[in-house]
Amino acid sequence: MRNDVDCILFDRDEIAACVAAIGRAIADDLDALAGHPTEIVLVPILTGSMVFVADLIRHLPQKLRIGVMSVSSYPGRSIESKGALIRGSLPDDLAGKHVLIVDDILDTGQTLLLVRQIVEEHRPAEVRTCVLLRKARPGAAAVHVDYVGFDIPDAFVVGYGLDYNDYYRNLPDLVTLRPEAMR
Ligand code: 5GP
Ligand code: MG
Repeated sequence: MRNDVDCILFDRDEIAACVAAIGRAIADDLDALAGHPTEIVLVPILTGSMVFVADLIRHLPQKLRIGVMSVSSYPGRSIESKGALIRGSLPDDLAGKHVLIVDDILDTGQTLLLVRQIVEEHRPAEVRTCVLLRKARPGAAAVHVDYVGFDIPDAFVVGYGLDYNDYYRNLPDLVTLRPEAMR
C-alpha cells in the first residue's frame, strides 16, 4: 500500500496539530455562546470523516452527541461524482440544538449543502460546518464552511479516513496516489 503513495500532503503530526487547532476553535466558539447551553450534536458524514471525527471529539470538552449521515457520492470504481445516496440516523430532537456537520473534504460542495438541508428541516438553533480539507474548486469556494483544516489544490487525496475504492482509509497521512494505483 505504501508503494502506491505518490506524495505526502500532510503527515500524521501536521494533521494532529491541525485537528487540535480546529477543536480549540470550536470549543472556544461554543463557550462564547453566553447564556446558551453549549451542548452540541455532531453530524459526521461517513465513511470518510470517521477518523477525523474520532480525533476531533477528543478535543471537545462540551457535552455532545453524534448522529451520523452517510452520503455516497462516488459509487463503484469511479472517482467522478455521481448522484447522491443518503442514509442517516439523526437524533429526533434536533429542534433548538446546536449542530455541527463534519465532513472529510469539500470538493463540489454538494454533499455539505445536501446534509445541511436535511439537518435544517429539523429546526435546530444553529448549524455550523467543519471540513478537514477544502479543494481549490469553484464549487467549494462558493459554499460557506465555518471550520476548515487545510486548503489544498485540486488533487485526489486518500488516507486518514479518505478512500479510493474503499481502500487506503487506514493510511495515517494524507497523500496522493501514483497514477498506476488508480487504474
Ligand atoms: P462534494 O459533494 O463536495 O463534491 O464531495 C465531497 C465528498 O466527495 C467527500 O465527502 C468525499 O467523500 C468525496 N471526495 C471528494 N474529493 C475527494 C478526494 O480527493 N478524495 C477522496 N477520497 N474523496 C473525495
Ligand atoms: Mg464523504
